[in-house]
Amino acid sequence: MSIPQERRVVTAIPGPKSQELLARKQAAVPPGIAHALPIFITRAGGGVVEDADGNSLIDFGSGIAVTSVGNSAPKVVESVRKQVADFTHTCFMVTPYESYVRVAEKLNELTPGDHEKRTVLLNTGAEAVENAVKIARSATGRQAVIVFDHGYHGRTLLTMTMTAKNLPYKQGFGPYAPEVYRVPLAYPFRWPTGPENCAEEAAAQAIDMIGKQVGAQNVAAVIIEPIAGEGGFIEPAKGFLPRIAEFCRENGIVFVADEVQTGFARTGHLFACEDEGVVPDLIATAKGIAGGLPLAAVTGRAEIMDKVHIGGLGGTYGGNPLACEAALAVMETIEEEDLVAKARRIGEIMLPRLHAMRERFEVIGDVRGRGAMIAVELVRPGTKEPNPAALAEVVRRCHAEGLLVLTAGTYGNVLRFLPPLVMPEHLLEEGLGILEKAFAAV
Ligand SMILES: *Cc1c(COP(=O)(O)O)cnc(C)c1O
Repeated sequence: MSIPQERRVVTAIPGPKSQELLARKQAAVPPGIAHALPIFITRAGGGVVEDADGNSLIDFGSGIAVTSVGNSAPKVVESVRKQVADFTHTCFMVTPYESYVRVAEKLNELTPGDHEKRTVLLNTGAEAVENAVKIARSATGRQAVIVFDHGYHGRTLLTMTMTAKNLPYKQGFGPYAPEVYRVPLAYPFRWPTGPENCAEEAAAQAIDMIGKQVGAQNVAAVIIEPIAGEGGFIEPAKGFLPRIAEFCRENGIVFVADEVQTGFARTGHLFACEDEGVVPDLIATAKGIAGGLPLAAVTGRAEIMDKVHIGGLGGTYGGNPLACEAALAVMETIEEEDLVAKARRIGEIMLPRLHAMRERFEVIGDVRGRGAMIAVELVRPGTKEPNPAALAEVVRRCHAEGLLVLTAGTYGNVLRFLPPLVMPEHLLEEGLGILEKAFAAV
C-alpha cells in the first residue's frame, strides 16, 4: 500500500484547509447535502483517509460500506485504468460488451442458491431496489410491496417511501408512492416481551398484518435487509428471516433481500442471507460491489427475471464498463485475499472489546452485528431510552482523535462500524482504544 497505514493528527479536525473548503462548499452546494465529518479528502487507501491539512484518520466507515477492498485497491486501479484507455461507454442497450456479461455470470454464481439466475446491472442501490420491485410486479401481476420497521432502501420516490424513518429521508418530500405497506421487524433489543420471543412474535404479527390489511394474494414482493443498515444494524432475531421467506414461498410472493449494505463479504459471509441459509428469489446489491465506482445489480431466479418484456429494464449508464471492470477486480480481490475470513476476524477482534466496554460503560445498551458490520446502541444509563446526546459526544471525541466513525439508527443513537476489510489490525486496535477513551470521558 503506497499510503502510510498510520493515524496522524496534525491540526484541529477539521483543519484550516478543510474549513476554507467547507466555506466554499456552503456557498456552492445546498445544505441538504450534509457530512458526517467535513474534512476534505485528498488520498485514501487501506485503513486510512488523508485530508487536505495532512491529517490521516483511521477509517471505520468505508464511505458507508463501499470500499470494502480498500480505497484505490491495486487491482481495481489497474483494471479501471486499462478500461478507461480502451473505451469509457457505449451504453449496454446500444452495443454490448463482455465485462457486463462477466459480472452477471459472477453474480449468478456467487449469490445464494444453485437455481438458474439472471442479473441486470444498474447504478445505485435505490435503482436496484426499484428494479426489484418492477420485476416482482411484472412477474406476479400484483402490486403491493411489504417493507419493515427500521428499513432503509434509498432516497428516490419509491425507495424513500419504502424507507421507515421520516427525518432526514422523507420530511417534506411527499406524497409517497402507493401500495407500500410496513410491518414489524424482529428487533431483539427493543422487543416488548424480550429477545427470546422476538422472532416468533414479530413474524406472526407481520404475517397477520399482511393477511388482514393487504391480502397475501395482492403482494408482489416482500423486501428486507438481512441486517437493517441505516435503521441501526439490527440483526433480526434468528428464525425471523426464514419464517418470512417461507411465508413468501407459500403465497407466491417474491422474497427480495436488500443486501446493498450487507453484501460482498461485509458480514463474514459473502451475503448476509447465508447466515441462516435463506435463499432469496431476488437479491439487490450495490455499495461494496465495485470499490467505489457506481454499480448495482438485481440478481434472481431466471423464471422471475425473464418475465419482464423485452426492453423493459435498463438505463443509460447501468453496468458502465469502468464500473464492471472495477466489480470484477473487487470480486477477484475478495477471493484472493479471503476477505470473507478477514471480515470474520474483524468481528472477532471488535466484539469482545465492545462487550467489555458494555460492562464498563452503562451508556452502552447493546452491542451487535456480524463480521465487519458492528454497532453499539447508546441508552440513558439504567434504561433503554435512546441517548443521542451521548452518541454525539462520543463521535465528537473520536473524530477529534482521528477516528472516523458513522452513526445510524431510527432513534439516532447507534454508533456503527464498517471498517474496510483490508484494515490493518494495528489500526483496528488503535481505533478501539480511541473509542474506549471516548466512552470513558462521556
Ligand atoms: C445505501 C442503501 C441503499 C441505497 O443505495 P444508494 O446507492 O445510496 O441508492 C439501499 N438499501 C440499503 C440497505 C442501503 O444500505
